[in-house]
Amino acid sequence: MGACLAIFLARRGEEVVLFDAAHAPLTGASRWNEGKIHLGYLYANDQSLSTAAHLVTGGLAFAPLMEELTGRPLKKIAPGDDLYLIHARSVVPPDQAGAYFARVSQLVRERAGGARYLKDCADARAYALSAAELGAVAGEAIVAGFRVPERSLCTVTLADQLVDALAAESRIVHRMGTLVREVAAIDGDEGAWRVHGEAFDYVVNALWHGRLAVDATAGLAPPPGWSHRYRVSAFIRTTHDIVAPSAVVAVGPFGDFKAYDARTFYASWYSAGLLADSGDVAPPSPPTLSGVAKRDIAQRIASELGAHLPIVREVFAATESVAIEGGYVFAQGHGALDDPAATLHRRDRFGVRRKGRYISIDTGKYSTAPWLAHAVAQEIAR
Ligand SMILES: Cc1cc2nc3c(=O)[nH]c(=O)nc-3n(C[C@H](O)[C@H](O)[C@H](O)COP(=O)(O)OP(=O)(O)OC[C@H]3O[C@@H](n4cnc5c(N)ncnc54)[C@H](O)[C@@H]3O)c2cc1C
Repeated sequence: MGACLAIFLARRGEEVVLFDAAHAPLTGASRWNEGKIHLGYLYANDQSLSTAAHLVTGGLAFAPLMEELTGRPLKKIAPGDDLYLIHARSVVPPDQAGAYFARVSQLVRERAGGARYLKDCADARAYALSAAELGAVAGEAIVAGFRVPERSLCTVTLADQLVDALAAESRIVHRMGTLVREVAAIDGDEGAWRVHGEAFDYVVNALWHGRLAVDATAGLAPPPGWSHRYRVSAFIRTTHDIVAPSAVVAVGPFGDFKAYDARTFYASWYSAGLLADSGDVAPPSPPTLSGVAKRDIAQRIASELGAHLPIVREVFAATESVAIEGGYVFAQGHGALDDPAATLHRRDRFGVRRKGRYISIDTGKYSTAPWLAHAVAQEIAR
C-alpha cells in the first residue's frame, strides 16, 4: 500500500518520504502471500454479498493499476481457473456455495472492467465439477467442487518489480529501518503533521499491522473487533515441470494451492501456518522459526493439504527449494474459520479513515491495495 501510494503521488509531482521499519521495501505480507486477486468467491459465508461487492472493484482494477505502477506486464499469473473445493465440514454446504458462486459471477458480469482482469472475465461463470472431475483432483473429504475464473499471481515476482519502480522515482526519499511510533498534529488537525521530527502536509498511515498503534497517537480509536494474525505458507520451486490445477479448500477447513507456472507453486494449510492470533492494538511479535520448525510446517502442509489435493504431495516430493514465509493479516473481524458465526467470514469493513490531513488506510487485501492507493493519491494531489 505504501509503495503503491508513494509511486502514484511522486508521478503526480509530490515529494514523498517513505518510512519503513524494515530495511528494504516490500519485505512483509505483500511479498509473501498467495496473490489471489479477489473477485469475492472466497467469502461464501457472507451471504449478504457485501464482502464480494466491496472486493470486486479492487480486484478488477488490480491488473491495469499494477501495470501502470511497474510499467511492465504482470508475470506469473496462474494460467488455470481456480477450483473451489468444498470440504465435508465446510461452514457453507455445497448447494449454498454453488448458489453463492453464481451470484458472485453475476456481480462480476455486471461490473465494468471484467475484460481487464488477470484474464478476461467479462462473462464470468462458475461451473460445478462432475463427480469424475472432482474424483480426479480431490480427496475423500471434499464433497463438491466449482471452477471459477478467479486468478492468483506470484507476489514475490511482483514485489521485485515494485521495488524497481520505487527506486526509479527520484521524488521518493526512503527512510528504511525507521520504526514509526507516533504522529502529532502541529497546528490543529487541519494543519501539517509531524513524524520523526519532520513536518508533512499529509501523513498517510499504511503500516498494516503497525497501523492501529500509530492511529491511537493521532486520536483515531479503532472500531472494535479486529484481529492480528501471523500466517506462513510454503513457496515452492520444483526440480521439473508438474501440471497441476490451482485450488482452494473453502470455507471452514481452509488451505490453498497455486500453480503460477509449471515449477512455481504456493501451498498453505491454515492451521499449520497460523502462528499467532491476537486482538491487541499492538500485533503479536513475529515468530522466529528454526530450520526444524520450518520443515515441520512444510510437512504438515504437504500432509494436510495433500489429503484433499493429492497433487500437492507430488509437488513437495519434487522440491528444489521451499521457503516458509508469510506475514501479518490484519482484519476487521476475528474468530475461527470453522465457526460459521466468526466475524472473519465478513471482510467488507476496510478502507480509509481521516483526521484532517492524517489519513489511515486499512489495505484490507493485497488485491485492493492499488485501487485504494490510487484513490488516496488522487485525493491528496487534488
Ligand atoms: C499467508 C498470507 C496469505 C494472504 N493471501 C492473500 C491473497 O491471496 N489475496 C489478498 O488479496 N491478500 C492476501 N493476504 C493479505 C495481504 O497480504 C495483505 O492484505 C497486504 O499484503 C497488506 O499490504 P500492506 O502494504 O498494507 O502491508 P505490508 O505489505 O505488510 O506492508 C506494511 C509495511 O509497514 C511496515 N511497518 C509496519 N509497522 C511499522 C511501523 N510501526 N513503523 C514503520 N514501518 C512499519 C512494514 O515493515 C511493512 O513494510 C495474505 C496474507 C498472508 C499473510
